[in-house]
Amino acid sequence: MKLHEYQSKRIFARYGLPVPQGNVATTPAEARQVAHLLGGPVVVKAQVLTGGRGKAGGIKLAKDAEETEEAARQIIGMFIKGLKVYKVLIEQATDIAQEMYMGIVVDRTHRKPIMIVSAQGGIEIEELAKNRPEMIFRLPIDPLRGLMDYQARNLAFELGLHGGLIRPFTAIARGLWRVFVENDATLAEINPLAITSEGQLIALDGKITLDDNALFRHLELNEMRDLQGETEAQRQARQADLSYVKLDGDIGCMVNGAGLAMATMDLVDLYGGRPANFLDIGGGARANKVAAALHIILADSDVKVILINIFGGITRCDEVARGLLAAMEEASTPVPPMVVRLVGANEEQGRQLLAAANVINATSLIEAAQKAVELASGQSQMQRP
Ligand code: GDP
Ligand code: MN
Repeated sequence: MKLHEYQSKRIFARYGLPVPQGNVATTPAEARQVAHLLGGPVVVKAQVLTGGRGKAGGIKLAKDAEETEEAARQIIGMFIKGLKVYKVLIEQATDIAQEMYMGIVVDRTHRKPIMIVSAQGGIEIEELAKNRPEMIFRLPIDPLRGLMDYQARNLAFELGLHGGLIRPFTAIARGLWRVFVENDATLAEINPLAITSEGQLIALDGKITLDDNALFRHLELNEMRDLQGETEAQRQARQADLSYVKLDGDIGCMVNGAGLAMATMDLVDLYGGRPANFLDIGGGARANKVAAALHIILADSDVKVILINIFGGITRCDEVARGLLAAMEEASTPVPPMVVRLVGANEEQGRQLLAAANVINATSLIEAAQKAVELASGQSQMQRP
């Protein structure tokens, strides 16, 4: 479960990490009120569960309450990466001299949490890892001993910090470690960790992801769950009990079983295509669940080709076919080319049901993936309405 910036910062503050003064607002009038109470220039920040808000226009500086109200009016209701903004965080503006990065994640290679720091922050760490890997320092942390003072100091030296910044830096690193461990987080991140023009360190952005499997022992954190913090597709997937992850390609995939879904995506990738999503309909899906899954794929305007790979067992191919037909009938937009591989339980009935529909049959997974990729590259010049 991901926490919003304002929620993460409240937790940070509880652990003594320096964060700007501020509060959340859900209306422009409330935003004005918060800015008025804070006094002076503020930043108005969209609270959505994704990064890159700055680039998307979700972060604005305002010099007074008047401008804050206007900024909030622009930001509330906007969409950032498919997520609607319902809340803004209003904070005292900071005069930034340098933006750094500090984060802790569970690292499977080291089988430990690792602290990642960089003197170059503000941008997404994945981007930095790609373009300037030499700017990133990683420190595996022994979970039993925790982050030791000397380790935090070493990180400060790696970053080129000196003088009065070393102590506050180590205090923040240790604080972030406690945030991470005591809340059962899988990620705790400060980006940017800013050095102000007065030479102070402050956490300007905060991000915490909690381990869902440990939420039962953090009931107060579970209450922070934001039911509005999901896209329409995610909401529909959750309601239909589908595992769905949106990706950036153009081949919409529907598969039964997570392993088969991964294998399908690997094959699409192998043949030079890009999946538009991961979608596992699970075992024993009935027609209505299949239809819900297809509706989600059809609603995605990135999808140029649909690839359906069903290995029938508990899931029956005729049920799948019925679900596909139902969703195609109800579709309000033209259905893109659909490559279907149905094998296993009741495959004959499934194929017969689909015979009248305009689908491309494939018998093997390789053939299905190749056809889908071929069609997607052929379609790349065409625009779907
Ligand atoms: P993200 O883009 O979603 O990661 O949002 P951030 O909270 O990290 O903000 C993006 C950028 O906005 C930061 O890297 C800063 O450059 C800028 N920013 C955020 N808060 C302030 C502030 O108080 N003052 C100034 N000058 N810039 C800020
Ligand atoms: Mn950030």
